[in-house]
Formats: sequence, structure tokens, C-alpha cells
Amino acid sequence: MLNQRMHELGAEPNKIRELFAYGLERKAQIGPENVYDYSIGNPSVPAPPEVLRQFETQLAQDPVKVHEYTPSPGDAQVREAIAQYIRTNFDIPATFGNVYVTSGASSAIAITLAAISNPGDEVIAIAPYFPEYKTWAQAAGCTLVEVPALTPSFQPDIQAIEAAITPKTSAVIINSPNNPVGTVYTRASLEALAEMLQRKEQELGTRIMLISDEPYREIVYGAEVPYVPSLYEDTIVCYSFSKSLSLPGERIGYIYVSDLIPDAADISVAVAGAGRALGYICAPVLLQRVVAECLDVPSDVATYEENRQILTEGLTELGYEFVEPEGAFYLWVRALEPDAVAFSERAKEFELLLVPSDSFGAQGWVRLSYCIAQKTICDSLPAFRALKEAYEA
Ligand code: PLP
Repeated sequence: MLNQRMHELGAEPNKIRELFAYGLERKAQIGPENVYDYSIGNPSVPAPPEVLRQFETQLAQDPVKVHEYTPSPGDAQVREAIAQYIRTNFDIPATFGNVYVTSGASSAIAITLAAISNPGDEVIAIAPYFPEYKTWAQAAGCTLVEVPALTPSFQPDIQAIEAAITPKTSAVIINSPNNPVGTVYTRASLEALAEMLQRKEQELGTRIMLISDEPYREIVYGAEVPYVPSLYEDTIVCYSFSKSLSLPGERIGYIYVSDLIPDAADISVAVAGAGRALGYICAPVLLQRVVAECLDVPSDVATYEENRQILTEGLTELGYEFVEPEGAFYLWVRALEPDAVAFSERAKEFELLLVPSDSFGAQGWVRLSYCIAQKTICDSLPAFRALKEAYEA
């Protein structure tokens, strides 16, 4: 009776959520101030005041219309507002027909993969990567092919990606600014990736879509975040407001099928079909209308930037090795032993909750989400010192 794969998936431990749940339990036992929980990427700054004002404005509208279904791809005015934002900010000819409003980047990626691939296809992800990519690729009947990033830069390894491409490759997923590493892909890296993908498309006579997963586009500390559709024609952007506007539980984002794709209209029809097949009737209507009015509202990056500084300075002083983060709110720190799972377990003895890199398809590192209270970061530094000393003893 049961679908075995779904049963396995439901039972499969999610290390990040497991650690987060452990943290909740531990905080109840010893007090929240005594647990240094770096497990999960829940934004720690409130949604900007303009967002809250928009909730009020929207809720004051016609009490029936405010809760109505919208067309599946989204309210036409909302889609047009997003298209206009893309045209204005990224100087490409976006049309509303190629915007499909979703419940966050998660459904955007799951829908996109279902729309552009067929069972048996391969999807390339650059490791370390957001763990759910594998789940969504497999749900679309595809195999996720992991290609390690270059070290120490953690930029995409173009040669290795090229070597992994086969006639079955339907897509490459990239994520910049990156979770879990915090790197931002340079223009040079993205241009090299685009040039290689174009060449492979011609050589193999296939289509290779570039899926650009962009929940952290605005959370960046000075680095340029190039707009991928202007570098590679066959690009689909999966955007989210979860982090930029601190609305993760509200579930809102969008898919933008680049207008520069010659058959963009057909791909948008397949996106609508995939959304339908996966049971998405429409994205939450209130949120659609709220974010459409807040597209220009800046993200509050200052708090994360301060956290980044306190944490990186503190860990540098203690002699930890990490990748200098240029965006998002994660720090990728070298584990003090080769087995990151064992290191994460050891860190727990010092009330430090650090996610082992195995969850992201890499070995020997841990991820710290520094979207937490500044005081927790400051208070955690003696625990990091004690952890290091325990390894040196
Ligand atoms: N992609 C990446 C890289 C993420 O870090 C996340 C969430 O943390 C998502 C996608 C999913 O985001 P959403 O809340 O928009 O579904």
C-alpha cells in the first residue's frame, strides 16, 4: 500500500532539523542562553516595517477578494510587478507571462525540475549544496550528480562540471550567494560556466538549463551578484522572499523563465503544468500582494554583517579555519577532525550546535548559521575556545 520511496523519505533524518529539534530540547533543559544554536537558517531580523504595513493595507481590502484563489501562475498584477522589477533592475526584457509565483524557492525548484526534465535525466549540483536539491531531482525521476566546487575558492569547477555533463544532463543548479559556504560566484566564473554550457549544448545537440537558486541575492556584503539570465540564455531563476524580507514561514517566491530563451513561452506552459501536477493551486494570495508592493524594499543586511564580523574575528583569533563569507548568513568552518559528524557530536558537549558538512554532500566541514542573536555569538566564543582546547589536549 505505502509508496516505499516516500516512506523512506519521510523517515530519513534531516540533520539540520534534527539538530534544531535537539537544540529546542536542550534549551528547555538548561536555559536558552546556555545553548549556542547555529543550526538553522531562520532570519533573525524582523520583516521590514513596509512589509507589515502592506499586510495591514491588504487585509483592509474587500474581505472576500483578499482571500480568493488567483490564477495558478499568480495574480496578473503581481506577475507584472515582478517582471517590471526584473526589467528595471537587470536590464532584460522580462514579461509577466514568464513569471510564475510560488510558495518559496523550494516549490520553485521542484516545479522547475519537473517542468524541464524527464525521468532518467541527470541534474548537476555543485557540492556542497542545499540538501533538498537531491530530493526534488529524485522526485522528478532524475539523478543528482554532485560536482565538488573548487577549493579553496568554492567557485564552480568548470572543467569538472564539463566532465560530468552527458547527453542526459537536463540542468545544472547553482546557488549564489551560497548556502552553505557563503561564497558569491564571480562574474568570471559565471561567464566561464555559460560559455562551457553553450558549447556543450552545441556539441551534444541537447538543452542544458541553468537553474539559478537565488534566496540570498540581496544578502551580500559588497560583492557583485551578476544576473545569471543576462549571461546564459537557457536560465530559469528560482527566487524567494524568505530571507530577503524575513518571511520564511509565509512561503512566497517565484520562477522567472528568462525571456531570452527562444521557447520561453513553451517552458512557461510546462512550468504551469508541473505546478498543476504537483498540486500547487496558487501561491498564498495575501503574500503575493504584499511582496508585489515591497519589491524595492531593501533587506536588513547590517545585522548579519555585524554578526559575520564578530564571528569571523572571534574564530580567527582562536585559530579556526573557515571560508570568508561574501554573502548569505552562513560560515563554512573546517572541522577539527576528518569526520564532521563526530566533530559536530563533540561540539554538542560544549553546547555548540554545528551542522556537519555530510548533509551538504561534502566531508570535513561544519556549517554555522549566524542569523542568530549577537549575544549568542559573543557568548559562544568561550565554548569554541574550549572545543579547540579539547582537541589540542
Ligand atoms: N535554496 C537554498 C539555497 C536555501 O538555503 C533555501 C532555504 O534555506 C531554499 C532554497 C528554500 O527556501 P524557501 O524558504 O524559499 O523555500
